Amino acid sequence: MTSNDVQLTIVGSVAIDTIETPTEKHEEILGGSASYACAAASFFVRPGMVGVVGTDFPNHFRQNWENLKIDLQGLQSVEGKTFRWSGVYEENMDNRRTLSTDLNVFETFSPELPESYRAAPYLFLGNIHPALQLHVLEQVQNPRFVLIDTMDLWINLAKEELTKVIGKCHMFTLNESEATLFTGEHSLQKAAEKLLELGPEYVLIKKGGNGSMLFSKEGIFLLHAYPLNSFKDPTGAGDSFAGGFMGALAASGKTDLESIRQSMIYGAIVASFGIEEFSLDRLWKLTSSEIAARTLEFKEMCRI
Ligand code: AMP
Repeated sequence: MTSNDVQLTIVGSVAIDTIETPTEKHEEILGGSASYACAAASFFVRPGMVGVVGTDFPNHFRQNWENLKIDLQGLQSVEGKTFRWSGVYEENMDNRRTLSTDLNVFETFSPELPESYRAAPYLFLGNIHPALQLHVLEQVQNPRFVLIDTMDLWINLAKEELTKVIGKCHMFTLNESEATLFTGEHSLQKAAEKLLELGPEYVLIKKGGNGSMLFSKEGIFLLHAYPLNSFKDPTGAGDSFAGGFMGALAASGKTDLESIRQSMIYGAIVASFGIEEFSLDRLWKLTSSEIAARTLEFKEMCRI
């Protein structure tokens, strides 16, 4: 491995979103799990992005990624339109409804890792079809830490493949309703126990504005979300959390529980900035010193 090789590979969707909240509507804005996760990780390491865009993909989005020093060798550009997704948030900003999903070039996407990504010790597989996640796992060389995310769609459509994927990662993450959907358990503890039985060392259950819970045979770690007075667009918060978490863990070079707990704090902090604006608008201008200051403030809030 040379110093140019990426330490963290991130695979996921790249999307052009239209998002409606009770007060605002933003059309044709950048989204997708890989976009959010790579931007969040870039504050800690240089991540390599694996995804696909169409020929209509605006150059200024790509320029923003380059400004964050995201490696784009793994980003495929193919003839056709970029994946489009639109969603609407209800009054409480918690419930979200999907209005439309146009897969476009995402429909035939097959993630291929550039040679320089294959030995990356850290890997985040964002929310894509579990068969594609398996395809990525076949290309990597013994990574030290693999985090895998999913969504209700794959639990409903491809549970068998998803179960295989879960058995091949170090940490599996999903949100609380998905944990119940997958296991049939309403108790998150019971749900996590069932998921741990499938093979991963850690299960991370995301609870939106209520934070997250990490389960392992070493016990439970509870992390609150950073309290914000107001936020504009929660889209991608889970991906920013995962990207910030994996970026911080990769920067630490470790995989022990203490480093995982510390890195989860960075995930929560970067995600809190991300939702202050629509799309990735807050992340483009975020600085490391802002992350450091909010992290200190957050740790003080949690001190017992
Ligand atoms: P989250 O808020 O974590 O659910 O992530 C939202 C992002 O996921 C949006 O920017 C969407 O473009 C993207 N997205 C929505 N549906 C899908 C899907 N079926 N596969 C992959 N990404 C998706």
